[in-house]
Amino acid sequence: MHAEIAGAGFAGLAAAIALRRRGWSVRVHEKEAVLQAFGAGIFIWENGQRVLQAIGAYQDVARGAHQAPGYETRRNGVCVSFEEINGANPFLLMTLTRQHLYSAILAATAREGIEIVTRSEAVAARREGVLELAGGRSLKADLVIAADGVRSAVRDSLGIVGSRRKYQDGIVRVLVDRGSLVSGSWDRVIDFWVFGPRTLRILYAPCEGDRLYMAMMSPRDDKEASRLPIDPAVWCGVFPMLAPVIETIGSRGRYDVYETTRLDSWSVGRVAIVGDAAHAMPPTLAQGACLAMMNALSLAEFASKGSDIVASLQRWEVQERPLTDHTQARSAELARTRALGSGMQWDDAGLRAALHVPIGTRPEEFRRPRRAHALLR
Ligand SMILES: Cc1cc2nc3c(=O)[nH]c(=O)nc-3n(C[C@H](O)[C@H](O)[C@H](O)COP(=O)(O)OP(=O)(O)OC[C@H]3O[C@@H](n4cnc5c(N)ncnc54)[C@H](O)[C@@H]3O)c2cc1C
Repeated sequence: MHAEIAGAGFAGLAAAIALRRRGWSVRVHEKEAVLQAFGAGIFIWENGQRVLQAIGAYQDVARGAHQAPGYETRRNGVCVSFEEINGANPFLLMTLTRQHLYSAILAATAREGIEIVTRSEAVAARREGVLELAGGRSLKADLVIAADGVRSAVRDSLGIVGSRRKYQDGIVRVLVDRGSLVSGSWDRVIDFWVFGPRTLRILYAPCEGDRLYMAMMSPRDDKEASRLPIDPAVWCGVFPMLAPVIETIGSRGRYDVYETTRLDSWSVGRVAIVGDAAHAMPPTLAQGACLAMMNALSLAEFASKGSDIVASLQRWEVQERPLTDHTQARSAELARTRALGSGMQWDDAGLRAALHVPIGTRPEEFRRPRRAHALLR
């Protein structure tokens, strides 16, 4: 069985490894010339960590990724929520740079001998199992996977987009050095919110080494705060405790708005759509990449069972879609209401995906990592 995959992001590579490990030949097409991760840092909850283990990337990812001792939310300078994580409570969360995560997955891809073709742009797919590339080549496969991200050209060629929606807020993402913000409460993930006279947020997340990821949220219509490069005076004025790192940002960063994609169907014939191409969501629950990899793994599991690929893809969607739909809807609701300003959602609705044991993983093999830092309240 052979699969052609469009997109060498988290979803595409996870699908490629999972299929290869089930005996498929696979080829991945990446439109960029260089294989690298975009964005800055990323949160990977337990469900994502389990998938990383199932595709052979977990050890490399865990080596160095930050395991914060706690997750705190501060609203107008006052702590409104604190939860111990990576310890006694059942919440496993790693924070790391995207490049660290991507490099580990790429190394797993190399170990499987998977071919990744760069500068290979997919433009369309046909239901009988054909991937069309820019330049006119058509590649036949038993399974075609569209993992080409939120602006997926392959998905759009199939005419199955139900809805796309943008939200009122966006995020400037930056990576800087932690500088003097080390140890004690600075080892935690801290979600700083300020409401009034303007709404701003900085999600502070230590990563591997002394790297620090900051997601700086502002409304799209706040031209001053959403501007790039960021204006240190605007942000330091609101978050003076973070001034030592804000002042080092300089010209770094990119601004992305929150976005949701919903499809009428996750497959058309022998073509499956996975990851942000199928279900982009606001990053409020930090589940986009976790679910992208989870659904890619189970796609491989379903496609490898039974002789009828088309029916297997339909069964895959029936199995996986409810949890993804729930998480997407909850993420959208949190984006709309900015309810995270009152604290992380430590409840079933907020953490259902994080605590889910993904199909294709072996629960008995997943070892809870030892926490890297002592909890200092
Ligand atoms: C601000 C922000 C913060 C986030 N934080 C988190 C978080 O903390 N945790 C989390 O789990 N998720 C998070 N997410 C979501 C996460 O980034 C995405 O869900 C994830 O990257 C989706 O992976 P993907 O492989 O589907 O798509 P992508 O990562 O977009 O990868 C798609 C790949 O396909 C390539 N490509 C595109 N078009 C073509 C084409 N036509 N032909 C060939 N190749 C193509 C691209 O170059 C890229 O390599 C966040 C998102 C945002 C916007």
